[in-house]
Amino acid sequence: MSKAIRVARTGGPEVMEYVDVEVGAPGPGEVTVKHEAIGVNFIDVYFRTGLYPQPLPNGLGMEGAGTVEAVGEGVTHVKVGDRVAYAGRPNGSYAQVRNMPGDLLVVLPDHIAFDTAAAMMLQGMTAQYLLHRTAHLKPGDTILWHAAAGGVGLIACQWARVMGVNLIGTVGSEEKAALAIENGATHVINYRKENFTERVKALTGGEGVSVVYDSIGKDTFTGSLDCLKPLGLMVSFGNASGTVPPFAPSELQSRGSLFLTRPTMMHYTAKREDLEATAKSLFGVVSSGEVKIAVHQRYRLQDVAQAHSDLESRKTTGSSILIPH
Ligand code: NDP
Repeated sequence: MSKAIRVARTGGPEVMEYVDVEVGAPGPGEVTVKHEAIGVNFIDVYFRTGLYPQPLPNGLGMEGAGTVEAVGEGVTHVKVGDRVAYAGRPNGSYAQVRNMPGDLLVVLPDHIAFDTAAAMMLQGMTAQYLLHRTAHLKPGDTILWHAAAGGVGLIACQWARVMGVNLIGTVGSEEKAALAIENGATHVINYRKENFTERVKALTGGEGVSVVYDSIGKDTFTGSLDCLKPLGLMVSFGNASGTVPPFAPSELQSRGSLFLTRPTMMHYTAKREDLEATAKSLFGVVSSGEVKIAVHQRYRLQDVAQAHSDLESRKTTGSSILIPH
């Protein structure tokens, strides 16, 4: 038996129930993982509210770190006792123990702690593919990154600095502004107080930026397009404020033949070789100390409702984790 979070309906944080579940032997290709730490991500909110549909009842959570307890038939790349971490579907990481597809797991380097791993696999691999593969950035480029003091945001600030890329970050408070600057943002804009489009134009001498990374969605999408220079790239990778309404491709033409992509980490890590390369790149910058993982919020597994309500109400900075035992 394991304690786990189950959702039988969509709704507010209260729909997450802390229950006992039976964990049988792992099936073919599956691995039983005993979690030591579990990541909390904004995508979990989308699944809980139903913005991203899933069959119900179901588990929640896409990220965790722990120890392999058992392996199913055909699993060869991990063995019992290995320290492992992962990010990806199916949902169900909000649990003490779970069975899951073995091909999502990567073996953790000894010096990376479980809580660091659980806090960075999804947010860190996302920053990795967005900065290194979605766009082709070079030193000296200037980009705009929304929610720069969040989980993905603080990692992106540091990683952009490593790459020699100037990152203008938006944030929702003065405390968050200081944090983003500390982590490597070149400039910050408090978009609750200032018009970020006007500020970006002023900061870039009227030119605009090469790439905008927009995970806010509805509230910022149009303003973000207006921050781009001609031939710039709009990376719409999340919807913290709601989904982007439909819009006409001519909006891209009138602003200077812009490019638009709506990526997800699942596609960038779907092939095992891509998953391993992305994780290796992340482990590299974390091991060297170039990127530090800010585990700023810790909750017990049974207090996950608090974790969600803090995340949704913009109270958190950096990453949040759940401790299952
Ligand atoms: P964050 O820690 O960044 O939390 C979300 C932040 O968004 C808040 O702290 C807040 O920062 C900002 N925000 C702005 N408007 C709102 C709003 N109306 N409601 C809530 N928050 C708002 O979360 P994560 O690091 O987990 O994820 C960041 C984003 O990246 C999410 O949109 C997520 O879905 C997306 N994502 C996408 C992936 C992909 O591959 N496509 C993978 C991983 C994450 P502030 O107060 O500073 O505005």
